[in-house]
This record gives sequence, structure tokens and C-alpha cells, in this order.
Amino acid sequence: MGIVREILLRGSESRWLADQLTRRRFTRRAVERFLPGEDLNAALDATAGLEQRGIPTILTLLGEHVSQAAEAEAAARHYLEVLARVSELKLDSDISLKPTQLGIDLDLDGTYERYKTLIRRAGELGRTVAIDMEESSYVDRTIDLYRRLRADHPNVVLCLQAYLYRTASDLAVLLPIAPHIRLVKGAYNEPATLAFHRKRDVDANFLKLADTLLEELSKGTGVQLFLGTHDPRMIYEICRRAEELKVPKDAFEFQLLYGIQRELQTRLADDGYRVRVLISYGDAWFPWYMRRLAERPANILFLLRNLFAA
Ligand SMILES: Cc1cc2nc3c(=O)[nH]c(=O)nc-3n(C[C@H](O)[C@H](O)[C@H](O)COP(=O)(O)OP(=O)(O)OC[C@H]3O[C@@H](n4cnc5c(N)ncnc54)[C@H](O)[C@@H]3O)c2cc1C
Repeated sequence: MGIVREILLRGSESRWLADQLTRRRFTRRAVERFLPGEDLNAALDATAGLEQRGIPTILTLLGEHVSQAAEAEAAARHYLEVLARVSELKLDSDISLKPTQLGIDLDLDGTYERYKTLIRRAGELGRTVAIDMEESSYVDRTIDLYRRLRADHPNVVLCLQAYLYRTASDLAVLLPIAPHIRLVKGAYNEPATLAFHRKRDVDANFLKLADTLLEELSKGTGVQLFLGTHDPRMIYEICRRAEELKVPKDAFEFQLLYGIQRELQTRLADDGYRVRVLISYGDAWFPWYMRRLAERPANILFLLRNLFAA
């Protein structure tokens, strides 16, 4: 793994660094590129702007690893408000949530109940809820959660990470329940005993997993596929393979983060592919921002430019 990536991912877990950097104006300015604002209104404004470009969104409130049930309850209430506002404003926005934000560190059943309430309400409003995937220690519990929720609800998506060796077998076990999968490369600092470290190995596994899912789409088994990547090479290969398998362009969806590869977002939408942009908002942005820097260390230059302009 690149040493810079490793340092940044370790930094993302440091409370001291979070305290230091979140107070600095130059960091806040750099973060604005990926974050439309710290509150829901800013995210809804950004959503309306993207819809004018023909691009729907997914909304996510930043926050993870809550340590008290009251915080998990507050997060769930917030997402109910998001669903209500989206419906009121007639926006095409889904939601995406981290299990540790809904209390998985505290109790699995409580987390299940909170997701269920949100998924039910989202279903009534014609919306979808995605379950993010976090560090590898959460994978078993998150998949269990998904299986239970998927049994009663069609509008729930599970994220799987291509950097983990285990993901191919996790996917094979999930296929019989026609899962709705968001495939990503994976954003956390995992040991070489659990995850591929070389980019080319992660990319190869991403394409292999995407291929399995595209084949399921071509057979019409009920599987759904969402691809969370900004990598033009992955996107090109997936479009090529879908064409080969005669999977229509609108049978799967590319998902990208707000502020990243904007031209590519528009080009894909113009070419008839489904594209959705994930908008994060909130004040707990430090670990999330460090993971974005780790994905593309060139963004550090952007941060430094803001430092010298400050
Ligand atoms: C919608 C969505 C949801 C996600 N959900 C999760 C999740 O639940 N769990 C999880 O572990 N991870 C999640 N991720 C993050 C994901 O795992 C990757 O860390 C992230 O997407 C970077 O990988 P990549 O495939 O975009 O490309 P990389 O392999 O990081 O980079 C390849 C190329 O993509 C482009 N690129 C990538 N990142 C950037 C950037 N920041 N700025 C500009 N260009 C860039 C560049 O051209 C780069 O050369 C999510 C990502 C997205 C888009």
C-alpha cells in the first residue's frame, strides 16, 4: 500500500489531528470542494442544482462510531426528516447510512430496528436506503443486518468492498436472495491478511465482482447493481462488458461522490447511463475527508494551496 495512503488513513483515526485540523480555515476551505455545507439545507440546495443537470442524489449525514444509543436515535430521527424534506420538495434523493452511525457498536437489534423504520418509511415514499460498509470487523454483522432487512424489503442496498479477499464468497452467498449491491473498492486501512493492497489487484477484483453482477443482470435474477467509483478505467470496462452481455445502459447505476469527476458524471448521464451523486454533509467530516485524501493524494496539493492562500 502507498505510504501516503497509509499515513492519511491512520491520521483519519486520530482525535488529536481532527481537533487541530477542523479548526483551521484552510482545511475548511479545501473541504468545501467535496462538501456543499454542514447542514441539510445546503445538501438539499446542492441536490436541486444537480437535478437541473439531470443527476439525482443520495444524501448522507457524516458521523460514525456513535457511543450512546441517544446519538443513534438522533441520527435515525434526522434521516426521517431527510426523507420528509426530500418528499416535500419532490427531489429524487435516496439515503445512505453507516451501521456505526445507527449504533451497531452498541447493539445489533437496536440497529436493525432503526434501519427497518427508515427503510419502511423510505419504501412508502418510493425511496431507497443503502447500508454503507465500514471496517472489516463490521462485515459479518453488516451482512447479517442486510439479510434480515432484505427478507422483508426490496428497497435496501448493501455496499461490498472489492479490496477484501472475502468479498467474492460473501457475494456468492448473497446471490440467492437477489441482493441489491453497491460495489466499491473500499476506503479503510485493512491489513494485507484481509485485503489486497496493490491497486492493480483491487481493480482486478472490482472488475471480477462487477462481471459476476452484470451476468446476474443479464439473466434477470432480480439482482441490482450500483457501482461506486470515479475510476474512468473501471467505468469504461463496465460499460464495455455490459454491452457485450446485452445488459441495457439503464439496468445499473454509477454512483460518484459530490465534487469528484464532475465532467465524467455529466458525460455518463448524457450518454444514457444512470448516474447518482452521493452528497455528504454535516460537521463530523474529518475522518471522511482524510479518506478522500487517501484515495487521491493529489488532493493534498489542493489542501496546501488553500494553506498558502489563507
Ligand atoms: C457512491 C460511493 C459510495 C461509497 N461507499 C463506500 C462504503 O460504503 N464503504 C467504503 O469502504 N467505501 C465507500 N466508497 C469509497 C470507495 O471505496 C473508494 O475509496 C473511492 O470511491 C475511491 O475509489 P475509486 O474507485 O473512485 O478510484 P481510485 O482507485 O481511488 O482511483 C482511480 C481513479 O479515479 C479517479 N479518482 C478517484 N478518487 C478521486 C478523487 N477523490 N478526486 C478525483 N479523482 C478521483 C482518478 O482518476 C483516479 O486515478 C464509496 C464511494 C462512492 C463513490
